[in-house]
Amino acid sequence: MMADGKDLREHVERLRALSFAIGAYRPPSEGGSASLLLRVSENCPWNRCTFCEMYKGHRFVYRPVAEITADIDRVAAMRDELAAVSSKLGMGGAITRELGSALLAQSRDLVGDPSFVTVFNWLAAGAGTAFLQDADSMSMRPREFMAMLKHLRQTLFSLTRVTTYTRSKTLSKRKPEELRLIREAGLDRLHIGLETGDDELLSLVHKGVTSAEQIEGGRKAVAAGVQVSMYWMPDLGGRERWRQHAEHTARVLSAINPQYIRSRPLVPRPGTPLFDEVAQGRLQLSSPHERLEELALTIAGLEVSSKVCFDHAMNAWADRRGGLLFRQDYEGYQFPEEKPLLLERIREGLAVEESMHVHARQLMAAQSL
Ligand code: SF4
Repeated sequence: MMADGKDLREHVERLRALSFAIGAYRPPSEGGSASLLLRVSENCPWNRCTFCEMYKGHRFVYRPVAEITADIDRVAAMRDELAAVSSKLGMGGAITRELGSALLAQSRDLVGDPSFVTVFNWLAAGAGTAFLQDADSMSMRPREFMAMLKHLRQTLFSLTRVTTYTRSKTLSKRKPEELRLIREAGLDRLHIGLETGDDELLSLVHKGVTSAEQIEGGRKAVAAGVQVSMYWMPDLGGRERWRQHAEHTARVLSAINPQYIRSRPLVPRPGTPLFDEVAQGRLQLSSPHERLEELALTIAGLEVSSKVCFDHAMNAWADRRGGLLFRQDYEGYQFPEEKPLLLERIREGLAVEESMHVHARQLMAAQSL
């Protein structure tokens, strides 16, 4: 049966009635795989890091499991609705650009509907991955987290990877057995903001965790079979503390040996205490060459079998030919095999004029807008 205009409009109305909660943030690698975004809690339960603007002014909301599973059911209903309309249009249930055009012809408003856009892109990309928002999903009570995960895996059965953000501190408080059960219930990967492994710096930026807790939490997750993706923040120590920042970050990351180590250079964000420190001259940021020296010390100290990644526009340094110094893909450099190559790339970057690095970063920042 082919759909007529009235029929299509009814499908669009049903799709629009199925909206669910979506937060603002997800790691770039989850954007790259068009992950389904589901909000299992809202904002950050800690919310005190001096460099972070993400959830400032928003209170943490612990979402009941029933609300989250209802959202998951809405996603499934949207999936089924889209497959039905695709079949009626003679597209065999496939989620394609043509299907999107047919639906948008009925209602341009769908473009501004985050639930529809997320589910449509997720299905078009194969519906394989999901990312649970917001900042610290492991703060959910383990039993509830497991129940939610089981419902997710049973309902959205095409998923092959489920990931989320958490804090090292929260992870350090979980029992190994709880983490093992959470892994079995369907969690594949944790994204964790390490920022630095230096205790003085952790305290200065109010990260609310010690390096010993970072190691404890990270090791527990790895031992439970959960992939760990850790983000560190080059230049967080500025000119004064770059050496201790590099050495202790390498120490902590080596002790954890996560699957992924991702560089997220410091960007002072207006409205944060750290931004004011920079503006008032209390924190002096490093020059591009000084940052590369810090990077060299960090990389040299890494005794890991991780993938080290530069998958963010702020990692744009220039090479001799005016290209990018580092590969910026989500899988990065495989250690220890590619460690010498990476150190060689850094040496090349140190031989390039600093203005070239500034230009490369401005260009990348403009392209990522
Ligand atoms: S824990 Fe993460 S989200 Fe929360 S304030 Fe710190 S950096 Fe921001």
